[in-house]
Amino acid sequence: MARPATQTRSATRLFLVYAAVSAVPVLLLGLVLAAAYHSEADRRGLDEGRGQAAVIAATAIEPLLAGADLSRGLDAATRDRLAAVADRAVVSGAVTRLRIRDLSGHVVYSQDGSGLTATPEAEAIAAAHGKVSATITRLNSDANDTGPKGAQVVEVYRPLRAGPANAMVGVLEVYLPYDPIRQDIASGLDTLYRALAIGLVALYLVLAWLSLATTRRLRQHARSNAYLADHDQLTGLPNRRQFLLRVGELAAGPPGSCGAVAVLDLDRFKEVNDSLGHDNGDALLVRLGERLTATVRPGDTVARLGGDEFGVVLARVSSEGEAVAALDRLRNAVGQPVQVGGLPLAPEASVGYALLPADGATADVLLQRADIAMYVAKAGHAGVVRYDPAQDHFDADRLAVVGELRRALAEGERVLHYQPKLRLHDGTVTAVEALVRWNHPRHGLLYPDAFLPLAEQTGLIDPLTDWVVAAALRQMNAWGPAANLSVAVNVSARNLSQVSFADRVLAAVVESGLGAGRLVLEITETALFTDLERATSTLHRLSDAGIPISLDDFGQGQTSLGYLSRLPLHELKVDRSFVTDMTRAPTSAAIVRSLVELAHNLGFVVVAEGVEEAETLTALQEMGCDMAQGYLMARPMPAGDVPGWMAAHQPLAYAR
Ligand code: C2E
Ligand code: CA
Ligand code: CA
Repeated sequence: MARPATQTRSATRLFLVYAAVSAVPVLLLGLVLAAAYHSEADRRGLDEGRGQAAVIAATAIEPLLAGADLSRGLDAATRDRLAAVADRAVVSGAVTRLRIRDLSGHVVYSQDGSGLTATPEAEAIAAAHGKVSATITRLNSDANDTGPKGAQVVEVYRPLRAGPANAMVGVLEVYLPYDPIRQDIASGLDTLYRALAIGLVALYLVLAWLSLATTRRLRQHARSNAYLADHDQLTGLPNRRQFLLRVGELAAGPPGSCGAVAVLDLDRFKEVNDSLGHDNGDALLVRLGERLTATVRPGDTVARLGGDEFGVVLARVSSEGEAVAALDRLRNAVGQPVQVGGLPLAPEASVGYALLPADGATADVLLQRADIAMYVAKAGHAGVVRYDPAQDHFDADRLAVVGELRRALAEGERVLHYQPKLRLHDGTVTAVEALVRWNHPRHGLLYPDAFLPLAEQTGLIDPLTDWVVAAALRQMNAWGPAANLSVAVNVSARNLSQVSFADRVLAAVVESGLGAGRLVLEITETALFTDLERATSTLHRLSDAGIPISLDDFGQGQTSLGYLSRLPLHELKVDRSFVTDMTRAPTSAAIVRSLVELAHNLGFVVVAEGVEEAETLTALQEMGCDMAQGYLMARPMPAGDVPGWMAAHQPLAYAR
């Protein structure tokens, strides 16, 4: 997935912010350390100054002052000796300035002649009372001093003691140059502080590294979140959200842009899920997602919209012809046989689409209309259908459909159509299959694929099947004994898993007054696997009561020969997908031939459904197939049409 430049930029900015923010505490720590360094240096400097002053006082000054009364000034000899000592000290660089004060704080000797007339400073008076003070300052920065400010010095005031009693006699005021002191101190402190500074830099680098690592991790998180938000987890395809964005991009293209938005919904996917399990259902979705993606052109989008519904954006498609060609390709890709859970399936799909700009100009409208077209396709078994405003009243909201279905079942909008089943050796019609339709007040006649899955999901299938059984039996009575037909009713998986189902069917048969053999129940293999135990016992009860059981869509689902012998079966209906293309596909013909043989070996009646061509019928007769059903003979028709069709039917035209 290409990483957008903005994302990289914002991650870099995030890292810079982190780096800057973590620099703040590090810098603060550095400042604190620097301040500590300075105050430590000062403290040591002052200590050193006081120490040096004490040494000067004790070794050079105090011995000269023994017995002198400083308040009366110094005698010449003492002054000369002091001057000699002071000059030596200044010349050697050990001292910058030296003064002697009396106990009132007045200067009585000044090595450089300064400060002789000034009033005593507070420190001088404090020293005359025994207190030593030291400050780091610059030469001539006292209020009393004149002359330019000089180099940095340690200014020390300390009492001078002399004589046998070691009494306080005056005050020593001495200025010591600070530079040598500082160098002395620095050489000791520097190593320590350099280590601390290196530690700080290292700390900062660690923080910066941490923030870099965190930013990276965050970015990865953001990227995978973005991926999850945009993609379907099962198939890895873009999800509905992303699909809407793509449709939006298509719709917002430059004026004159064109394209198609399609919704593809799998037919009878629920059966796959129910009979083969969710894992296999999931695997099928993944496979079909791959096929769809491989079939579209670069620049087109295939998304999973949810459940068994896929969305397709076809960019650059400008006409109905192009759209249908592309979508037929997709439908064919879906329909290729696929192994699911070790079984061959041929999935089918209904596709609805809307064209930009003819059918809509915004994402919402295009998608909604493609959705409507898909429902129309599904309802009419129509494959690929373009949105048609005439059908816009079709309600795409499944909930609304459920409500309508419930009402329809109550208000008698359901109808049965009947399709004849022919006996092949003499061409007579011995049975009809009842096929339910929903006669919708607005949409017209809807086929079972459009509403049966919903009825099954919502439990409406139970009352529906009860009604079909009762209505079919009523119809048999209405046609009278002369017709001498049996009627086949389709039973859903859900029906068989209900304990009371057998009772309800048997009660309906009793109420009809017809023999149990006049009702045939067609079950699919799917119906068996949902709850095999219960389905088997239900079937045994029905069969024991004389109702023949027919296994529908045989060959299509999970065929286990074990089931065939364990179940009370009477008839097998070879799936119409094999029959319909028998004449074109030798493999299908071979499959039909072996299914016929297999059924006969097991003692079952074989019905081929989906017979559309005379050639197929002939082939079936040659194979020894017992019965046939299909458009060639008759499409499913309303009950009212059946007598007329029967009267016109010429059995011999179909006999061997
Ligand atoms: P099915 O049991 O396999 O029924 C046969 C389907 O094949 C019918 O579709 C019928 O119209 C169609 N058909 C018949 N001859 C031909 C032919 O020559 N060529 C082709 N291509 N198709 C042919 P229909 O009526 O749409 O029913 C679809 C499915 O709906 C049925 O498949 C059945 O499984 C289910 N169904 C129909 N009525 C009921 C019902 O009352 N209850 C339950 N539970 N399911 C029903
Ligand atoms: Ca059937
Ligand atoms: Ca069938």
